[in-house]
Amino acid sequence: MIDQFGRKITYLRLSVTDRCNFRCTYCMSEDVSFLPKKDLLTLEELEIICSVFINKGIKKIRISGGEPLVRKNIIQLFERLGKKLNNSNLDELTLTTNGSQLKKYSSYLYDAGVRRVNISLDTLDEKKFHLITKKNNILSVFEGIKAAQNSKLKIKINTVVLKGINDDEIDDLILWCGENKFDLTLIETMPLGDTDILRSTNYLSLSKVKKELMKRWTLEDINFSSGGPAKYSIIKEANIKLGMITPMSNNFCSGCNRIRVTCTGKIYMCLGQNNSIDLKKALRSKQSYRSLENLIDQSIIEKPKKHNFTTAEFSGSSIIERTMNITGG
Ligand code: SAM
Ligand code: SF4
Repeated sequence: MIDQFGRKITYLRLSVTDRCNFRCTYCMSEDVSFLPKKDLLTLEELEIICSVFINKGIKKIRISGGEPLVRKNIIQLFERLGKKLNNSNLDELTLTTNGSQLKKYSSYLYDAGVRRVNISLDTLDEKKFHLITKKNNILSVFEGIKAAQNSKLKIKINTVVLKGINDDEIDDLILWCGENKFDLTLIETMPLGDTDILRSTNYLSLSKVKKELMKRWTLEDINFSSGGPAKYSIIKEANIKLGMITPMSNNFCSGCNRIRVTCTGKIYMCLGQNNSIDLKKALRSKQSYRSLENLIDQSIIEKPKKHNFTTAEFSGSSIIERTMNITGG
């Protein structure tokens, strides 16, 4: 699948639920209303969508959400998709999770074929964790991380850098990741949907963060790609890879290889645009496979050149109607 700007689309991010057990302030409002469960596609339907995408050239699938591991019986989807590894175009099956359910699920994920996991953790401090997630269970995340290590899953930590909240903790996170042999990716907060806080309060450009880090750490830029938008350096002293995802300060859309599908079956061709294509009706029609293929082809034609959000939206309403838990990070 090659779009009109010559970009090869090989990476599908699938949001399997909009629900979450955390309420990260940059992601959703504390009193968020989730979709009625009847609106969600079944796991079988999500698998069909993945199969069509795989046949059309998708090599990597990341399961996301909301919190993917709070969806009932989600391991069944991992098991079914895992069977497609090595005998289809699919090379990698992975997920992004807040880590809180990994104690229960790590070994099942490994058995299903998952080898790498992105765990989102913005702080190592219990009080700050509550400030950011509005929940008190940092211990469940640490236990989940331990379980993932024990199950031999390779871990990358994702941290959204928030001015005045965790920007003083990046050195500690680097040290902690170094001790545990985790890579670390820092992310700029994006204006995706409106939440309870104005994003201007916490936005920090990662180019500034990098300059600060270079005063204390030896950063060597490398030409590594994990298939996503991060630009990587090695931090010599900690011996880890440091990724930086900079949608705001350094647009990376020219290299975009991604397409997203929500738990209700909507394709979003760009995280930072509102246009979408709905697969649900086609999925439930008689000629479903052919109709799905046609709609996917259409989505590739309509994939926008780049996202439209700017830091101007940080002080007001977002132009994007949905929050990150709908589209999947
Ligand atoms: N619940 C899982 C988790 O937190 O890892 C998966 C879904 S979450 C939406 C995926 C990623 O998006 C997380 O790393 C989260 O920090 C990030 N995220 C959520 N809202 C964001 C925003 N407005 N700007 C930047 N990153 C955001
Ligand atoms: Fe939940 Fe992930 Fe959003 Fe935090 S970032 S509220 S963990 S979906």
